[in-house]
Amino acid sequence: MKENTSDLMQKIVSLCKRRGYIFPACEIYGGFANAYSYGPYGTELKNNIKKLWWKKFVQEREDMVGMDGPILLHPKLWEASGHLSGFNDVMVDCRECKKRFRADNMITEITGKDLEGDLEGMNKILVAEKIKCPNCGKSNWTEVRYLNMMFKTEMNGIDEPVYLRPETAGAIFADFKNVVDSMRVKIPFGIAQIGKAFRNEIVAGNFIFRLREFEQMEIEYFISPDEKWQKLFDSWLEQQQEFVFALGAKKKDIKLREHSKEKLSHYSRKTVDIEYNFPFGWSELYGLAHRGDFDLTQHAKFSGQDLNYTDSENKKYIPHVLEPTFGVDRSVLVALCAAYEEEKLDGDDIRVVMHLPKAIAPIKVAIFPLMKNKPELVKKAKEIFDLLKLDFMCEFDDNGNVGKRYRRQDEIGTPYCVTVDFDSLEDKAVTVRDRDTMKQERMKIEELGEYFKKNIN
Ligand SMILES: [Zn+2]
Repeated sequence: MKENTSDLMQKIVSLCKRRGYIFPACEIYGGFANAYSYGPYGTELKNNIKKLWWKKFVQEREDMVGMDGPILLHPKLWEASGHLSGFNDVMVDCRECKKRFRADNMITEITGKDLEGDLEGMNKILVAEKIKCPNCGKSNWTEVRYLNMMFKTEMNGIDEPVYLRPETAGAIFADFKNVVDSMRVKIPFGIAQIGKAFRNEIVAGNFIFRLREFEQMEIEYFISPDEKWQKLFDSWLEQQQEFVFALGAKKKDIKLREHSKEKLSHYSRKTVDIEYNFPFGWSELYGLAHRGDFDLTQHAKFSGQDLNYTDSENKKYIPHVLEPTFGVDRSVLVALCAAYEEEKLDGDDIRVVMHLPKAIAPIKVAIFPLMKNKPELVKKAKEIFDLLKLDFMCEFDDNGNVGKRYRRQDEIGTPYCVTVDFDSLEDKAVTVRDRDTMKQERMKIEELGEYFKKNIN
């Protein structure tokens, strides 16, 4: 991690806490397991991102429908999907300080060697190269072993363990037949879902990048086995990138990384990760995989149900599936990182401003009376607030001088500030200040609604 970039990350983390975006969870108890709470503005931002996604991938398309399945699903489903046997990370514990590490990642970081899946090789190298614990500096390791990443729990009336879903996709496959039977959908079509997923990561970190409890936006797009899938695959990849741009990301900060044939899951024809240049380095943001007929075939086998699709010519087949996946929390992190700017103003003055795209900004318009102790100004400002709040998330603020209020809204990323002054009472106009240009414009109160509708979408 480069010093100046980790610096940037710290600045974003601190702004998030200071301005009510994201807090460390359970801080009064000393924090808990690298978990975070979304504060009032963070919740707005996250909801806006999910709304934008739903609009683009469900509302505006004729070949997509949505659903919302449970977090706790039939245990057999995880047997069928392979999660019970294969959803593992490689871990090792330091016997001295008891800290747990991802053995593969730690060895790669220290030695530069990639021993993917070779547990024996990892055990050997830990001893042979006397690899030191990054936490305590000693070299006394347990055996390297696999750890299943699913969270286990129990449920009344169910004898076997129940798992918190490690991805949202499971419910989509389990209800594929119900959607086909009830919705008159024709292949190719997709099912979209947004929801929480849980992975018992050995190491969580990098703020909200790697969380054990996180949110996903997933699509299963069902196609015929005869479909020329390459074109559809490219089109999904294109749309996933469009979505990153809608979060405010720049082209230079996005790259694609295709999985090599050796690293590809046995059933996948092609998998591509979309990576983002986070302050802590290039890391996976979204993914797109051609999963063949693996999932539906497995669920048909384990459930004993016929999951064939019958096309208009009465041909039966198990559809193939393209799976574009998006992380909600990672999307939030991209929006925050892309938006953050320290702008040099006249003199030594520095303005911290979040250039969030207007569509996802938590607050669209902030409304100020010029002075707090003038009831006629406060009354007028409240009137404007009551009017605009019907269409936009607004905030009323009469605290401190107007310059300070502007700066606060800049850090929140509010695109517009409206100030009511003494002239407003006479000319029925207000000052509208633009976050990005800092330009101030006089505008009739009655024209505000139309202006914001036109400029905030
Ligand atoms: Zn140690």
